[in-house]
Amino acid sequence: MTEINRARRPQLPTELLREIVSHYTQTLPSRGPEKGRQSYKPAWSDFEPLTLASKVLRQLALEAWFKVYFARSPDDLLNVWPEFELWTKELHCIELDTDLQIRPVQWNLRAFRRLRKLRVDFDPAQSNAMLLMRFDHPRNIASQLQELDVHDVSWPSPMVLRLISQAFPGLRVLKLAQDLIWCNLCNICRFATFKNHPPEEIVYDKVVGLPKHYAMYLMPLVNLQTVQFTISYGLGGSTSLWHNDDTMWSGECDACMDMMFASGDFRKDWVERKKLIEKPPSLQCVRWRFRHKNVEDVVVDLEDEPEGGADQEEDEEDT
Ligand SMILES: [Zn+2]
Repeated sequence: MTEINRARRPQLPTELLREIVSHYTQTLPSRGPEKGRQSYKPAWSDFEPLTLASKVLRQLALEAWFKVYFARSPDDLLNVWPEFELWTKELHCIELDTDLQIRPVQWNLRAFRRLRKLRVDFDPAQSNAMLLMRFDHPRNIASQLQELDVHDVSWPSPMVLRLISQAFPGLRVLKLAQDLIWCNLCNICRFATFKNHPPEEIVYDKVVGLPKHYAMYLMPLVNLQTVQFTISYGLGGSTSLWHNDDTMWSGECDACMDMMFASGDFRKDWVERKKLIEKPPSLQCVRWRFRHKNVEDVVVDLEDEPEGGADQEEDEEDT
């Protein structure tokens, strides 16, 4: 009789349970402000009770928990469970090395065949612009990535953008969080300063919104729909971003704005030229976000700026 009752006990289909667990994951409370070089996964304690409820729920909870995999070193990717091949959609890697002492170590994505998003957190205290080269192996998995989120690349430059567009040709979303802007008026990477705190974000959805350099180097990404910059800024500049319609600010440094925008004619001409910049073919939206920082906390040695800014690096690279 007991066996009969057990057989008749109603059971939800696994597919429905999976949807419930997925919804539960999405509704978990935030773990507080996101911090660089720390995992943004939900806490394990939120999943553990599910793993104890039933065999099916245990499987589904593990699947949801490992949707994002957090790795502190390339070794963390080598001996993962076989199921990760099916479960993990997002990989979050912490890369603390420096390209001043580059080692031939690859982050091997081989075990993550359904990967859709890669986030890489660099150490802002290190020169690291070349280290993205370590994340494109094997080629077939790097090519299928739809979203790349790079934090704290030390020096925005043609090399970084070229690496991105060559290594990850399938990108739909590119997010770059960095301390410096790469001004396309003077072609120098600088720490941004404004007259007052900028809006939380500036969104361009009908015009390009990208500095010309970025538009040019990202052109090969034919599926790219969204680019999001999060840049650091300080106060003490001369320009406010609160009345942006007649400037369409897209990464110009304060020195250039102060000096060159003083001429209304130049500013109008510059804005008109920005509207005509050729953009990656699928681009729909460019977002600029801002994080306040004291210039003393920006680790890159601003005095050590290469002569000629990013131009020099580009010239050297082309030789
Ligand atoms: Zn400038």
